Amino acid sequence: MARSVAEAQRPPRIAMLGGTFDPVHLGHLRSAVELREALALDCVHMVPAARSPLRDAPQVAPEDRLALLRLGIGDTPGLIADAREFSRRGPSYSADTLAELREAYGPEARLVMALGHDAFMRLAEWREPHRLFELAHVVVIDRPDHEAPRPEALGELLAGREVERVAELMAEPHGRLLRLALPSRMAISATEVRRRLARGDSVRYLLPEAVESHVLAHGLYRETGR
Ligand code: ATP
Repeated sequence: MARSVAEAQRPPRIAMLGGTFDPVHLGHLRSAVELREALALDCVHMVPAARSPLRDAPQVAPEDRLALLRLGIGDTPGLIADAREFSRRGPSYSADTLAELREAYGPEARLVMALGHDAFMRLAEWREPHRLFELAHVVVIDRPDHEAPRPEALGELLAGREVERVAELMAEPHGRLLRLALPSRMAISATEVRRRLARGDSVRYLLPEAVESHVLAHGLYRETGR
């Protein structure tokens, strides 16, 4: 669809959705599509972590997680499988990734770091959490399988940042916090997908078909295949 003059002149709107994607599932992908719609984003960079500082090592090799992510995205408009954290050494820090995206899209870009509610709860434990807000907005996606009161440690970090509407977020390049309840909240987690695969149970309709086929054909996440 042709962009209007006003749209063509507006600053780029970009999101990063980082994660382990071990493996990518429909909860991630549907969230990314709906996030793009809700914020009228140009694109969503889905960035698999080489090694997450706060989590156990992923179950399969980085190349497999990336291959699955690419298969899952397929030809979905506006979603990008972004492998930049694999080319950095050491643990993957989101602030470094956001700094690279900020550099690429410029100071006026509306840059959003999107994360699910479970990941958000631990934000104060991340490295340089204040720097995240100097680089981007933070958008928290509600998950039906994760609900908990906000920890006190987040209070100081978030003070004065929260906005209620997308327009307020998009009025500035970075620094705000927005909570979003997307239309198709899905109670799908990679943990449950891995558990099912390990037991040999069905993962149909939890993963995109192409991802399911690849996982099964290569015996990924099977108890005996590790
Ligand atoms: P695990 O069960 O292994 O912890 P996960 O399903 O939470 O994995 P991650 O790769 O850790 O997947 O998630 C990447 C990002 O996507 C995180 O910010 C997470 O909160 C978010 N996310 C994951 N699943 C969903 C879902 N079903 N709905 C909304 N957001 C999700």
